Amino acid sequence: METSEYISLENEYGASNYKPLDVVLTKGEGIWVWDVDGNKYMDCLAAYSAVNQGHCHPKIFKAMNDQAKKLTLTSRAFRNDQLPLLYKELCEMTNSHKILPMNSGAEAVETAIKCVRKWGYEVKGIEEDKAEIIVCNDNFHGRTLSIVGFSTDDNARDSFGPFPAGFKIIPYGDAEALEKAITKNTAAFMVEPIQGEAGVIIPPEGYFKKVREICDRNNVVLVLDEIQTGLGRTGALLAEEHEGIEADLTLIGKALSGGFYPVSAVLSNKEVLEILKPGQHGSTFGGNPLACSIARASLQVLVDEGMIENSKKMGEYFLSELKKINNKDIKDIRGRGLMIAIELHEGTEGGARAIAEKLQKLGILCKETHTYTVRFAPPLIIKKEEVDWALERIKQVLG
Ligand SMILES: *Cc1c(COP(=O)(O)O)cnc(C)c1O
Repeated sequence: METSEYISLENEYGASNYKPLDVVLTKGEGIWVWDVDGNKYMDCLAAYSAVNQGHCHPKIFKAMNDQAKKLTLTSRAFRNDQLPLLYKELCEMTNSHKILPMNSGAEAVETAIKCVRKWGYEVKGIEEDKAEIIVCNDNFHGRTLSIVGFSTDDNARDSFGPFPAGFKIIPYGDAEALEKAITKNTAAFMVEPIQGEAGVIIPPEGYFKKVREICDRNNVVLVLDEIQTGLGRTGALLAEEHEGIEADLTLIGKALSGGFYPVSAVLSNKEVLEILKPGQHGSTFGGNPLACSIARASLQVLVDEGMIENSKKMGEYFLSELKKINNKDIKDIRGRGLMIAIELHEGTEGGARAIAEKLQKLGILCKETHTYTVRFAPPLIIKKEEVDWALERIKQVLG
């Protein structure tokens, strides 16, 4: 079948809640993907950081394949021999006490919301149904109703109400605003260490130190959504390390799957997760042995193959080279690790979409976020020659 035939089938039968680039991919290996016409591209989106380990990583594939032949799903009505090992490995790696496994990122966020509310009532002593969770402007935490209910992106929220109450929105990167927003009913502050979907927004230096201190002083649970920033993307296992703090709850997903199969988890440093008793929360697929074996292998290759250090090193190189580009349309170039963005001035002809389309023709796949920002977030296994290859093409488009 031809590219155009795939596209028209998709347009005819699929819901149109996405506007993908017109490239139909059929194969992936490492940082590279191929379309149905045999064109090869460097994947500079890495499925929004779900394939940090590179496409079809052979060791993750093997773990998945071996496990799929043995046992895939038990439900949590019975125990399986993979989940305890994932718990142990993940706790040791992240210095956590407790883990709750789910599937998608949004489910991990929902789980955190439920836990901190229950904690608020049963431990902090908040009056029934009064618990508040503080979140930030331009947040992205997923697509479920409660989550889009506190989104500040009209496109994500409009016409989906009514929404659950109990969320307060403050500016991102503003510790004073947090201090002011906290009341006796505040159970938690949930925030991204770097706002990915908002366009790689990095908060001011020292912000999270202040946030940590404010949460401690007010007995407020700090929830870091590291679904995108976690697992090596920013050049550290968790982005909180750059800030020298530890969250009370950390949410991970995306790359926990190595891109094979959705796996997410709530990591708890305090005993917030202890609040849940049997029957109060669950998921048919959460913690299944196939997911656990994939997650275990995904974490293992991240560490064994030095992907986190590589992300730091290649990210620094990529960013410093990008910063040498001189173009009047560029407003800002920023990043941490291999989470990098180029922001164009408002009103730049064609916006970021035009850049993504030009780069596609030169063999690089990336995606605009909002109208004027292009993000570069390749798998963490990218080599220097490959960064150079990408830079050459980015310079052709922007230089
Ligand atoms: C992608 C993402 C989510 C949602 O994950 P899904 O698996 O798409 O539900 C939540 N938070 C952040 C920061 C994300 O980047």
